[in-house]
Amino acid sequence: MTFREFGLDESLLEGIEASGYENATPVQEQVIPIILSGKDLIASAQTGTGKTAAFLLPIVNKLINARHDDQISALVIVPTRELAVQIAQNLEGLSYFTPISSIAVYGGGDGSNFSTEKQALSRGADIVICTPGRMIAHLNMGYVKMKALQFLVLDEADRMLDMGFYDDIMKIISFMPPVRQNLLFSATMPTKIRELARKILHDPAEVNIAISKPPAKIVQKAFVVYETQKIPLVKWLLKSTNLKSTLIFCSKKHNVKQLTAELRRSKFNVKEIHSDLEQGAREDVLLEFRSRRLPILVATDILSRGIDIDNIEMVINYDVPNDGEDYVHRIGRTARAETDGIAFTFISEKEQNKFRSIEDLLGQPVDKEPVPAEFGPAPEYSPRSKSGRSGRGGGKRRNPGGGGGHNGQGRNSPGQQRNHPGGAQRGSASGNQGQRAPHQQGRQGHGGNGQSGHGHSEHGQGRGGAQ
Ligand code: AMP
Repeated sequence: MTFREFGLDESLLEGIEASGYENATPVQEQVIPIILSGKDLIASAQTGTGKTAAFLLPIVNKLINARHDDQISALVIVPTRELAVQIAQNLEGLSYFTPISSIAVYGGGDGSNFSTEKQALSRGADIVICTPGRMIAHLNMGYVKMKALQFLVLDEADRMLDMGFYDDIMKIISFMPPVRQNLLFSATMPTKIRELARKILHDPAEVNIAISKPPAKIVQKAFVVYETQKIPLVKWLLKSTNLKSTLIFCSKKHNVKQLTAELRRSKFNVKEIHSDLEQGAREDVLLEFRSRRLPILVATDILSRGIDIDNIEMVINYDVPNDGEDYVHRIGRTARAETDGIAFTFISEKEQNKFRSIEDLLGQPVDKEPVPAEFGPAPEYSPRSKSGRSGRGGGKRRNPGGGGGHNGQGRNSPGQQRNHPGGAQRGSASGNQGQRAPHQQGRQGHGGNGQSGHGHSEHGQGRGGAQ
């Protein structure tokens, strides 16, 4: 389906074309007409499906003729500042030829940042993308022009509740006029999200796009290892695949730092990203990685959700993510839009039960690769079954090495087991980031949206503060 078929404004179609989008994605096909019709919406869609444009496009389209000069017309609440900045950039590209202005308002940053935000919020900006804590700080000062708000979007709502933002969200809503269009996006739909939806949405339409399932084109593999085998195995994987773009996730900052230092010692061109880095430094690293000047990035889950980096060829989960959703989000960093990708997960003995529950959520086991013989014996995969008993006794197995492992793949380089990613990439998906149109770099709404900051970060309050 083309975007023209939605009946969107010419100025918006121009921005869509400049962003490189040709056809609507499935989530856009379903969601755009609902939002255009004025209904509230609850949608479950994972990142990478095009859900951001699915809500931005109809909102911008409606605001073209219904904006107020000195008011905020739409508020998008998101869990992290990275996501806020990314959505704002996406919006800037899409809305460039329209009169719509926007600003990202997020935690951290210095005083000048705050005062730019204050100016925009008190003067009115058509679309504001914010993290909850920072928005409340502004609302409490009394100058935010939200009396004519027409749209509220809660993005990654499950993540926001996990981070303890429920009260903040309700408080922000208390400043809004009662009649408005409400849109809620969430990767998962646990009971608490349903309850939040009941409080906020009115007779919503519901859209479910493949809940919690990674795109089929991502090749998923796992290595069952001892903790001490992880670092040598990362090095082996990096050497044997020799890709241009690998993202490695660790659950803890400490592991990110340790692994990065180890890889550096072995002369890999690698950098790290986590919440200890200042915002400016993070953005520099991301830019390097996006532009392929940096082939290897080690990150905490800061980067697992919503962050738009195209064309990552390989994701390595250095440790097993905390839950199925994080797993899906992490591996979803590869195989974006129309590219494919490969994701490896390292499962230590302690992490086997956690990984089994992820496999349960996925509805199928992930292929286990034999650990190369040079790393010595590896553990058996024997997670506790759902009944609570241990599986196959937890004994050690001899490493299958070249002698035909349990999946019969011996010691081939992992890169040989699939069509190598990278050849089939579609230009369109990178339109907003890797090859951003010049207009996306220059233009800003009221105060722009790419301001850097540092210090306390809202996402620092993520699960267990481990990011
Ligand atoms: P999202 O799920 O919103 O994070 O989007 C994932 C990626 O797909 C982003 O790089 C978007 O710019 C890109 N994208 C969104 N819609 C389309 C489309 N219709 N055609 C091509 N790429 C798209």
